[in-house]
Amino acid sequence: MAMKYVPEPFRIKMVETIKMTTREEREAKIKDAKYNLFNLKGEDVYIDLLTDSGTNAMSQEQWAGVMRGDEAYAGAKSYYKLVDAGRDIFGYQYIQPVHQGRAAEKVLFPAFLHKGQYAISNMFFDTTRAHVELAGARAVDCVVEEAKDPSRRCKFKGNMDVKKLKELIQEFGAENVGLVVMTITNNSAGGQPVSLENMRQVSEICRQYKIPLDIDAARYAENAYFIKRDEAGCENMSIKEIVRKTFSYADMFTMSAKKDTIVNMGGLIGVKDPEKNAELVSNIKANCISYEGFITYGGLAGRDLEALAIGLYEGLDENYLRYRIGQVEYLASRLDDAGIAYQSPAGGHGVFVDAAAMFPQIPYYEFPGQVLGIELYKEAGIRACDIGSYMLGNDPDTGEQLRSDFEFTRLAIPRRVYTQAHIDVMAEALIAIKERAHEIKHGYRITWEPPILRHFQAHLEPIEE
Ligand SMILES: *Cc1c(COP(=O)(O)O)cnc(C)c1O
Repeated sequence: MAMKYVPEPFRIKMVETIKMTTREEREAKIKDAKYNLFNLKGEDVYIDLLTDSGTNAMSQEQWAGVMRGDEAYAGAKSYYKLVDAGRDIFGYQYIQPVHQGRAAEKVLFPAFLHKGQYAISNMFFDTTRAHVELAGARAVDCVVEEAKDPSRRCKFKGNMDVKKLKELIQEFGAENVGLVVMTITNNSAGGQPVSLENMRQVSEICRQYKIPLDIDAARYAENAYFIKRDEAGCENMSIKEIVRKTFSYADMFTMSAKKDTIVNMGGLIGVKDPEKNAELVSNIKANCISYEGFITYGGLAGRDLEALAIGLYEGLDENYLRYRIGQVEYLASRLDDAGIAYQSPAGGHGVFVDAAAMFPQIPYYEFPGQVLGIELYKEAGIRACDIGSYMLGNDPDTGEQLRSDFEFTRLAIPRRVYTQAHIDVMAEALIAIKERAHEIKHGYRITWEPPILRHFQAHLEPIEE
């Protein structure tokens, strides 16, 4: 039986009307969009689950902060407020705002990665992988084996496989591994959390081999909530204490603040010990000024810095996190009732439906995750996205289509935006699609693709009999 929905710890003060469309209209619109969900107009989507990134609802305190934002070009009050919040929460002394997560990667990664080198992660997010490759290095995933089996319910499926990490370092040679990146939560593996114990072990290995450790920290707060709930010995720690402890194991972080910080735009870089890393910090500042803007605004308006400083704390509120994770688990429990497979247990920011299980007749190179995404749009105006072979793309050396370990359709839930009734619409659409899934014989082929991050822009067409 579906679990009980955790009631919202807030009420609604402002509403945004969303458009209702018919199936016929949606079939025409997705065809016009060349079967790429990123090409749809937002207004033609009823429930937008493309991403939880920058799609969050800000609080009244954040909106009040927007009005207080200090727009001084250099040394704005809002910048200092943000730096204080970052130091207080993460315990890192150098805090650099940038305009979003990939900007943090672009500014930081070239300091560590060059041609012929490797970066190893529990799992790289797509833009993170792209910035490793743009720096000339190769990105290698090293997630625990259980993450690759969506039906296997276990805790901390986002963890790094520490035994394999050591083997990879020995195989490549420690001097050729420029960076280890811990993605928390592990987005591409289904928003699965990483345990404190795993952080500690990875940190120990990095120290042993003298490899710097970066946290890809987009979902630092959701990860901490899972640790508090599920990791032995952590139940009495506050979320903030867990975040501190988690970050104490790394040397730096890159963060998309568009996720757990509950704002619409922003990113951060943190360096734990700037005194010991003076050259790195001066490198970051130089790159930031070239690519993003002066160091005290980093490509953001003062009002963004202010909302970000407030959101860093709001994301840590345990009542909010209980509701947030509970909402995702409620959707997952409705799928359990219907026998729909997903990366289980549910992760932090959405449900990753196992499209390969729903469409066993569709091979990876016809993109089952994309098939389910398109069906969801046609069925109910829901926009999700593929996290599978379609997103993974081609081997950079051979140009051949890579086969992903998973074929997921990700329903990413924006924070503080949708209600229980919206979640029920999602569940009912998936159930309806499952009932007719066997009638869908073929997937899609790509008719045009750009060389990198193709899923955002590619054109597709349905494969006919
Ligand atoms: C979103 C995200 C990024 C990239 O951040 P943007 O703000 O979208 O540029 C990097 N890593 C992870 C894990 C993410 O979820």
